[in-house]
Amino acid sequence: MVDDKSKLNARGKFAMYMESHKLRKTPERFAILDMAMSFCEHFSADNLFQRMEEEAYHVSRATIYNTLDLLTDCGILRKHQFGGNQSQYECVADAPNHHHLICTECGKIKEIKDTELLKYLNSKKYSSFAVSYYVLYIYGVCNTCARRMKKNRSINKIKI
Ligand SMILES: [Zn+2]
Ligand SMILES: [Zn+2]
Repeated sequence: MVDDKSKLNARGKFAMYMESHKLRKTPERFAILDMAMSFCEHFSADNLFQRMEEEAYHVSRATIYNTLDLLTDCGILRKHQFGGNQSQYECVADAPNHHHLICTECGKIKEIKDTELLKYLNSKKYSSFAVSYYVLYIYGVCNTCARRMKKNRSINKIKI
């Protein structure tokens, strides 16, 4: 969850972005921004659509997709393609350089902070290139899936 100050900053940033791109500052777009910032974790366009419906705020999926693209483009949201079929989003203000552990079995994503690794990455310099941020995806198998796979294996053994 993003604090009120970051929310206000984001609104200001989004308003400026829309002005400079000659886009209409519709209440729907701001409502989508507010809703996006209410998520603590990653969310998909569908998650956002559902939450808007729960709040009885009706906007079309097209408007949601379009606004999420704008929010990503202006740097408020970060878009991830974790390997599932849907893109996932998260608030940049809420995600200061964390890493993602992704289970290749169930698709679950866990966020981790690794200060050692961050220190190392932040100390890296590349010639003629200014780094803004890092996104690191670490793929593997989560505990729940590992247990399930082990159980399945032992069941198969019994059958043989
Ligand atoms: Zn898993
Ligand atoms: Zn994340």
